[in-house]
Amino acid sequence: MAASQQAQASAGTAPALDFDVIIIGAGISGMYQLLRLRELGMNVRVLEAGTGVGGTWYWNRYPGARFDSESYSYQYSFSKELLEEWNWSEHFAGQPETLRYLNYVADKFDLRKDIQFRSRVKSAHFQDASRTWKVTLEDGKSYVSRFLVTAVGPLSAPTMPNIPGTDTYKGESYHTGLWPHHKVTFEGKRVAVIGTGATGVQTIQEVAKTVGHLTVFQRTPNWCKPLKNGKISDAEQKALKARYDEIFKRCDETFSCFLHTPDQRGTFDVSPEEREAFLEKLYETQGFGMWQGNFKDMLTNREANKVISDFVARKIRQRVKDPKVAEKLIPKNHGFGTRRVPMETHYYEVYNQPNVELVDITETPIERVTEKGLKTSDREFEFDMIIYATGFDAVTGSFDRIDIRGANGLALKDKWKSGIETFVGVQVDGFPNMMMLVGPHTALGNIPRSIEYNVDWVTGLLKHMKERNLTLAEPKREAVDEWTNFVREKAKGLLSNEIDSWMTGVNKNIGKTQRTIARYSGSAPDYRAWCDRIAKNGYKEVALR
Ligand SMILES: Cc1cc2nc3c(=O)[nH]c(=O)nc-3n(C[C@H](O)[C@H](O)[C@H](O)COP(=O)(O)OP(=O)(O)OC[C@H]3O[C@@H](n4cnc5c(N)ncnc54)[C@H](O)[C@@H]3O)c2cc1C
Repeated sequence: MAASQQAQASAGTAPALDFDVIIIGAGISGMYQLLRLRELGMNVRVLEAGTGVGGTWYWNRYPGARFDSESYSYQYSFSKELLEEWNWSEHFAGQPETLRYLNYVADKFDLRKDIQFRSRVKSAHFQDASRTWKVTLEDGKSYVSRFLVTAVGPLSAPTMPNIPGTDTYKGESYHTGLWPHHKVTFEGKRVAVIGTGATGVQTIQEVAKTVGHLTVFQRTPNWCKPLKNGKISDAEQKALKARYDEIFKRCDETFSCFLHTPDQRGTFDVSPEEREAFLEKLYETQGFGMWQGNFKDMLTNREANKVISDFVARKIRQRVKDPKVAEKLIPKNHGFGTRRVPMETHYYEVYNQPNVELVDITETPIERVTEKGLKTSDREFEFDMIIYATGFDAVTGSFDRIDIRGANGLALKDKWKSGIETFVGVQVDGFPNMMMLVGPHTALGNIPRSIEYNVDWVTGLLKHMKERNLTLAEPKREAVDEWTNFVREKAKGLLSNEIDSWMTGVNKNIGKTQRTIARYSGSAPDYRAWCDRIAKNGYKEVALR
């Protein structure tokens, strides 16, 4: 911004705005928010670190990356025309197809003209006098806007393992969340994969198809469930299209916006035979059914959870030939569904291949990465390639990587030091005019369903302000307390909040060992009812000036 404009802004006269709204991130959230704000006639700029749209599906090009939500329950629902035009080839589409879809959306709605790529935001500072945000990129350029919308993603800040020597390794090495755009091959190569979360599982089962030798380094095994993916025929696609209204209505009604919803029976309401048959059916069902559509007490009743975990453990023992390897693959420190359940296709059978080895790093920890490979406490390994499937600094990570300062220079990191506090997961007191999309404390689940709701709600608030010439929105402290307390109450009694995982804010690779309540664990319909009530009553919980 020119010096004269800055002077004008700080003098308290009408501020010089580069944009009405700056959105950080051009994933599913940022793209849709851009579209909706354009409809309000706002001047919007999206700042995106990558060179293209798609967020998650732009960055995660690793082998085997794909949805665990059904392609058709995950896609945008806002445009009938788009729904009619796009055909999905698989029930759970792979990353290349999803990225093609998001590029198609960007073309169709001419989004790129307002997106600035290769633009990583380094800082965002609220300027009290002018009620504006000053957003600065890593290259030093800065822009001023009235509103700041963060669309930075809940899983978009990749983390490396906390192992010395990663920079000394001379072979090929890749983080799954920063996968290169060039073709990577595994034929004849000795490959290491570190990490067995949802991404690690997808990577391992794909790399194993062509690899020379694969060594998997596992710290925590996860309970995985067969995805049961399949092609969508033309006839099926036609039938699905005819049901889109019904599909999205169902997603609106279920707890986590998936097509699946918990069975209304308790685990012990049925006979052991009936239970076994039900679990068997769920195990064979496509997608997240066994996680999201299981007995209603699976995630709250320890005994119920144990019965279901034992069922899945039996499956693992049946599928993995070496009993010692099978035992290593069975989680012992958490029950089924209490962490994000990776979906798999022949994952367990990979360990029956003679060229695949599983190393349990709780028994023999990795001491360092060497020039040629890895050294554990008992062995030296040589590899042609190391793949880090070590995940993300989830939910708050992408916020922490930006120096965000609100009124009076308060840093967001400091604000959240002793616990995250938000107003419906969209705003934070002390950070006026900042709106978060799928940030902490919002309903996540089948995420695009939550994104569309979040974006529409934020759009509604900005429309309300525009119509009244209002320039400042900050949630009232009582409203923040009320929502934060509600989120904390909802977290009580859930087995998933009693274990370490990215969903409880734990990431040992970066020293985050304290559990936090970063997610809203109530139902999506309850979340929407809360937010709808606020909008209907004229946003009384927000100080608007
Ligand atoms: C491998 C994988 C599989 C997944 N599968 C599913 C699934 O099956 N179902 C489901 O519901 N969810 C899934 N998710 C979650 C997924 O992240 C969301 O579904 C969705 O893509 C989130 O969209 P978003 O636009 O909010 O964030 P993202 O897609 O993460 O986009 C955020 C964007 O912000 C940009 N950004 C961040 N910080 C900055 C900065 N400082 N400056 C500039 N740009 C920045 C990033 O570059 C990125 O492009 C998956 C996630 C991963 C990683």
